[in-house]
Amino acid sequence: MTADVAARATAGFRSTYGEEPAGRWAAPGRANLIGEHTDYNDGFVLPFALPLRTVAAAAGQPGERWTVWSELSGETVAFGADEVAEPGRVAGWGAYVAGVVWALREAGHAVPGARLAIASDVPLGSGLSSSAALEAAVLAALVDLGGLELPRERQPRLAQRAENAYVGAPTGIMDQSAVIRCRAGHALFLDCRDESVEHIPFDLDAAGLAVLVVDSRAPHRHADGEYAARRASCEAAAGLLGVPALRDVPADGLADALARLDDAETRRRVRHVVTEDQRVLDTVALLRAGKVRDIGPLLTASHASMRDDFEITVPEIDTAVEAALSAGALGARMTGGGFGGCVLALVDADRAGAVADAVTAAYAERGFAAPGHVTVLPGPGATRLD
Ligand code: ADP
Ligand code: MG
Repeated sequence: MTADVAARATAGFRSTYGEEPAGRWAAPGRANLIGEHTDYNDGFVLPFALPLRTVAAAAGQPGERWTVWSELSGETVAFGADEVAEPGRVAGWGAYVAGVVWALREAGHAVPGARLAIASDVPLGSGLSSSAALEAAVLAALVDLGGLELPRERQPRLAQRAENAYVGAPTGIMDQSAVIRCRAGHALFLDCRDESVEHIPFDLDAAGLAVLVVDSRAPHRHADGEYAARRASCEAAAGLLGVPALRDVPADGLADALARLDDAETRRRVRHVVTEDQRVLDTVALLRAGKVRDIGPLLTASHASMRDDFEITVPEIDTAVEAALSAGALGARMTGGGFGGCVLALVDADRAGAVADAVTAAYAERGFAAPGHVTVLPGPGATRLD
């Protein structure tokens, strides 16, 4: 068994720098419970933090120098003030770290020089937001080491800016909000229009439930181009309907809106976004009422909408959802942008193993590469460990 992720970060720090870290900061990966492709339509999302975490062991160093080791490649990347003067000067994974330093400096903070060692249990590129976990762990370390005045609610924007402007990845505000602001036993209800958040009780443990996360390990097929196409389609539809964003089409105005659109594909895209926003609101209402078990059908309906209307699923993903439901999951859906990534299934905690086995068997039968899986409860957001 591999050592605990925090212990691995500390061991990496010691062997790389020959000294003890001043502290350790952790940030989780995240899964979106429901609300897919609603973010850029100014709508609602409902992510929760995973117990899988990225840990940064760190200490200050004199001058404007930043050195970072990651267990991932065993590589150490070093950069100084010149490299963080403007985006693009640090490439590869070091860009996520340099981007955080850059964004802090852009916001007027005096960022302390630092040595960092990173270890992580968040799988990379599976849609569980290892990128935001890395940014948030590094950001928390730098804020504390430098005694910077940056309240938690302002940190997601800054981490997002690192990823958008320095790394060059066009992500919304959900990932960084989730990994920084989530609370254990809760999901984070985020309004992507005004970025307001509310912590919604999501106490799976008390209900005898768990979420099984299945990593489809499906290759991301044309995901960037398809994402851009969906986004363009939504923006064009909002324009045709004369609203700022599809969030402004209410669920009870959907039929009218669809009647005003000529193109069948556009109608499907709009129907997904409008019904998905409503499913987020319905999920929040059920969770507030303590009816955790009852959200299952909403999750499954969300999946059907992504498969049939938004057309962003792939055979591996649909197979995982069907197998999980057949094996007794209360609900299941793809989570993340689509064309690969992960599926989450709401399960009775004592059925998690059986549901995972059923998915693995269905994959073998279809000749797909074996999926990964982990059973989770909603964990805390970014935090200092010691
Ligand atoms: P996701 O966020 O869904 O995992 P992304 O493509 O957004 O996928 O981010 C993955 C990238 O983030 C990796 O390719 C790597 O550059 C960087 N990254 C994430 N975690 C680490 C880590 N622990 N060490 C080094 N780089 C990391
Ligand atoms: Mg990411």
